[in-house]
Amino acid sequence: MMNANEYVESLKKLRKKVYMFGEEIRDITVHPFLKPTLNSIALTYQLAHDERYRDLLTATSHLTGRRINRFTHIPQNTDDLVKKVKMLRLLGQKTGSCFQRCVGMDAIITLSSVTYEIDQKYGTDYYKRFIRFLVRVQDEDLMCGGSMTDVKGDRGLRPSQQKDPDMFVHVVERRDDGIVIRGAKAHQSGSVFAHELIVMPTLSMRESDRDYAVSCAVPADADGIVYIVGRQTNDSRKMEECEIDVGNLQYSVAGHEALVVFDDVFVPWDRVFMCGEWDFSGVLVERFASYHRQNYGGCKVGVGDVLIGAAATIADYNGVSDASHIREKLVEMVYLNETMHACGLACSYEGVKLPSGTYYVNPLLANVTKLNVTKFPFEMARLAIDITGGIIGTQPSEKDFKHPAVGRYIEKYLKAREDIPTEHRMRIVRLIENMVTGTGLIESMHGAGSPQAQRIMIARQADLEFKKKLAKILAGIERS
Ligand code: SF4
Ligand code: FE
Repeated sequence: MMNANEYVESLKKLRKKVYMFGEEIRDITVHPFLKPTLNSIALTYQLAHDERYRDLLTATSHLTGRRINRFTHIPQNTDDLVKKVKMLRLLGQKTGSCFQRCVGMDAIITLSSVTYEIDQKYGTDYYKRFIRFLVRVQDEDLMCGGSMTDVKGDRGLRPSQQKDPDMFVHVVERRDDGIVIRGAKAHQSGSVFAHELIVMPTLSMRESDRDYAVSCAVPADADGIVYIVGRQTNDSRKMEECEIDVGNLQYSVAGHEALVVFDDVFVPWDRVFMCGEWDFSGVLVERFASYHRQNYGGCKVGVGDVLIGAAATIADYNGVSDASHIREKLVEMVYLNETMHACGLACSYEGVKLPSGTYYVNPLLANVTKLNVTKFPFEMARLAIDITGGIIGTQPSEKDFKHPAVGRYIEKYLKAREDIPTEHRMRIVRLIENMVTGTGLIESMHGAGSPQAQRIMIARQADLEFKKKLAKILAGIERS
């Protein structure tokens, strides 16, 4: 297993084309906007070497028997599914941010069952190819990016109906030695810091969309791949060389996301895990989505723990921690947070074994988990803003605080409790401000699919006929 330094060093060897703020970034490992994200991902490597977290951060490979980072592990039982959620909560607590390595983890977990099932039906050898790739990922402890969300063009049209055929990633050429893919994936968490990108279809395809039913692994610096990093709320603060104003200097409060362009990228056959089997794209998407929605009952809860702690701290600093309405609001935040966690755990404990041996979460409960995450963090943010007070929207900048002429006024007039340094109060206000107004909340809404996607999955699994029958029996309309 790599440690944090080895991981960062390994990235320096990649030749990636990364653009941001109108320029090409030569060294992605040092840029002030990207650095906090890199620190977050690096922590997934570092904690695997910490005895205290070994049980959560590592696992035994079912393929080689070797000790591996859990981010490269395929769940072999419900305990593995539960530990996945707990590991993510721990990392959310440590970073207060998105640590980006889970998308690739869910991609390999999903492919471990779907490639197996495609082979069962079509006699292909995708599973063997995939397992070869997976052993390398585990042994070299690679960071994988999961490339699923296509840019989608006109949302009312199927992939093959789009005027521009590149609105969904597709196969443009089949050769003896491999395929060539073209298109772009949007909102790609962690992609800039990944060693490998795992491409997957973004929705259930039909026969006419055959060329869009493609899954493969591509070295993240392959020819033809271009990364364009997205802007975020408060991003320029990170470039101001300030410390207090970014709120969470080390890890930021959100990861980075990029538009990843695949401009005719060649992929050899041994890295292709689905090519034209359109009838398996639906199950692939459903499984990946469920695994990733499970996660949100971990990572977002860990981030929620930080927010609750920050809200309780500012209440202390303001001298109002004993006020009954403040205590009630903090309890409400805890209740919301633990409800998200309970769902994440429940879908894991209810996991079942798939034909390949991989364990699968309960998809209904996983979707309920994520649908809660599209609401509860917003209510928690509202409560945190309420508890913090108006200063969250008006606090002067760090530069003014350090300014020889006006700094002393800020020092004097922003003080609350006598025994708390003004700077401490300003720091916690900034942390809360960045957590409740930043990109992290948007991620809670749209990450792992927008709320409507969860509602569709919930509706599909609700079994209303069964529930109607229960009611009719009790009402004496039908017999059991
Ligand atoms: Fe992982 Fe959560 Fe970030 Fe998704 S949002 S990549 S599950 S930390
Ligand atoms: Fe996400």
